[in-house]
Amino acid sequence: MKVAHNFNAGPCVLPKPAIESAIEAIRNFDNTGIGILEISHRTPGWERIMIETEQLWRDLLHISDDYAVIFLGGGASTQFYQVAANLMNHKAAYLQTGVWAKKAIKEAKLYGEVAVVASSEDKNYSYIPKGYEIPKDADYLHITTNNTIYGTELHTDIDCPIPLVADMSSDIMSRPVDVNKYAVIYGGAQKNVGPAGVAFVIVRKDILGKVERVLPTMVDYRTHIGSEPKNNSMFNTPPVFPIFMMHETLKWIKDMGGVEVMHRRNVEKATLLYNEIDRNKLFVGTANKEDRSIMNVCFVMNEAYKDKEAEFLEFAKSQGMVGIKGHRSVGGFRASIYNACPLESVEALVACMQEFEQKVG
Ligand SMILES: *Cc1c(COP(=O)(O)O)cnc(C)c1O
Repeated sequence: MKVAHNFNAGPCVLPKPAIESAIEAIRNFDNTGIGILEISHRTPGWERIMIETEQLWRDLLHISDDYAVIFLGGGASTQFYQVAANLMNHKAAYLQTGVWAKKAIKEAKLYGEVAVVASSEDKNYSYIPKGYEIPKDADYLHITTNNTIYGTELHTDIDCPIPLVADMSSDIMSRPVDVNKYAVIYGGAQKNVGPAGVAFVIVRKDILGKVERVLPTMVDYRTHIGSEPKNNSMFNTPPVFPIFMMHETLKWIKDMGGVEVMHRRNVEKATLLYNEIDRNKLFVGTANKEDRSIMNVCFVMNEAYKDKEAEFLEFAKSQGMVGIKGHRSVGGFRASIYNACPLESVEALVACMQEFEQKVG
């Protein structure tokens, strides 16, 4: 098979063992003689997968019984309004750190007043604002912990005097997280925990049921929280295959040693790549150094070499690099180096950057 170093931003590289067991499960799920795409979601084998998947989340992030862990369709983008519908009575606060945050703000405005506590739009979202004031009368503060498009990341779990809601689509499971500091953590699976088609929501149960508005059944988080774990996320047909892949991906994370090990590996990969960007005269990083993401590494051609951009992309492609073209709103290059991206891929990209530097002379 063709060698490809996959740096796509999402959907993206997944652990090889997860892919292998998915292939087997499509043929024959749980020794039933039928494939996972063909089973009923009410079969005992599937109930076990649902229970185990939730338990893997709880084990990996030390999630207490105060929280529900549910899996929903519609991606992270559906959560932009679902969070607001479930939690906002009159006012919510948002930290505007990129296009995803902006989209979340747009949806929240459908349900009440939005206070933008700070924004980094003035510098094309190349940094994480600090030292902002959080309004005490807001129902929650919403943050985006990793800004996939701009390569900036909040590296710590912030202290927040009001309920904290986080879109962790692109850095979930990349580091240990103190879940107790959050009221809600959500995200699409397709960056670090599986393929597209399912979103995860970790929600503190005591925060629900406080809004005055009438919620459509599917929008109300409580609909998806069962009286016992096997009924969680089973109000309607869950996205069976994406959840199975999530189960296998989380199992891989656990087998590798958990989120501490993921974090150590991610820091190692990111350091290697940022060091090369800082050393190589052709390239320059776009994100503020202290806010640099360990998941999405954004860089551009140095001013003096701007005309070499297309040539580098072509060269990198010939060396097996996939998905390193930057998002159109930043330009240049972006290497997404999620959990499942092996160190060898980052080493190959670094070698490619060094070789190109020599070629250019
Ligand atoms: C990818 C991404 C989204 C959008 O996810 P969908 O599942 O496609 O709706 C939202 N927020 C962040 C931070 C993302 O990286």
